[in-house]
Amino acid sequence: MKRLTTILALMLTFVFCAGVANAGKLEEIKERGKLICGVKDSVNLFGFIDPDTKELTGFDVDICKEIGKKLGVPVEFKVVSSATRIPMLAQGSVDMLAATMTHKHSRDEKIDFSITYFMDGQKLLVKKGSGINSTDDLTNQKVGTVKGSTSEKNMKNANPKSRVIAYDEYPQAFMALKQGKVKAVTTDSGILAGLKAGDDNPENWEIVGEFFSLEPYGLGVPENDSAFRDFVNKSLQQMWLDGTYATLFKKWMGYDLPNTWKMEIWPM
Ligand code: GLU
Repeated sequence: MKRLTTILALMLTFVFCAGVANAGKLEEIKERGKLICGVKDSVNLFGFIDPDTKELTGFDVDICKEIGKKLGVPVEFKVVSSATRIPMLAQGSVDMLAATMTHKHSRDEKIDFSITYFMDGQKLLVKKGSGINSTDDLTNQKVGTVKGSTSEKNMKNANPKSRVIAYDEYPQAFMALKQGKVKAVTTDSGILAGLKAGDDNPENWEIVGEFFSLEPYGLGVPENDSAFRDFVNKSLQQMWLDGTYATLFKKWMGYDLPNTWKMEIWPM
């Protein structure tokens, strides 16, 4: 009898441990009582510190809050950069990334992505009247962007003769433009719009040229956790269908959601 009890106890321990090891993000977040979301803190409109409240705010921050609401838990934010976001998610220090991150096949090796939740492309931000209208005009010229971004690689591909300087964050690249150290800043047009809008003299700057890349943003989610990924995808689609997405888009971008891109929607 004693032996049977011991065996039963061992079996239960095994089942319990296996359960814990396999527990997915959904269970982990609910047990912990909060969703830990990685966001930017210096990207105006997407993830930045509100100068009045000193709180993190922006489109990506609101997307995290909506997903937190659907999970029934509050959100804790951790600041990520373009270079640190994928390692931070892969190591488990955040549950999810909402960080102006383009879904690229090469980024799929260590993490998974949600469906596209924002569509953009790359352009140039220059001083008004600079005469720079396209990537061709940047031959032998310095252009600023950010380390670990798609923007760095895309610019080198678009004009291999440009001299790309990668900073840690976009405001540093913009500062270099203001100081005349670079001739342009290049990244996704929404981020450029945020830099321009956040300046004391926005009329001094212009966003020029055609889009020279496609930047479909995906939320970063842990590798191989389909229950969590399904939940995140369903949440995004619900936000699209009930109008929350359009409200957030208008709130941050300042104009109505254009019909040039639509979120992928799956029937129930
Ligand atoms: N969306 C691009 C990327 O994921 C550029 C913006 C960024 O650096 O986050 O690399």
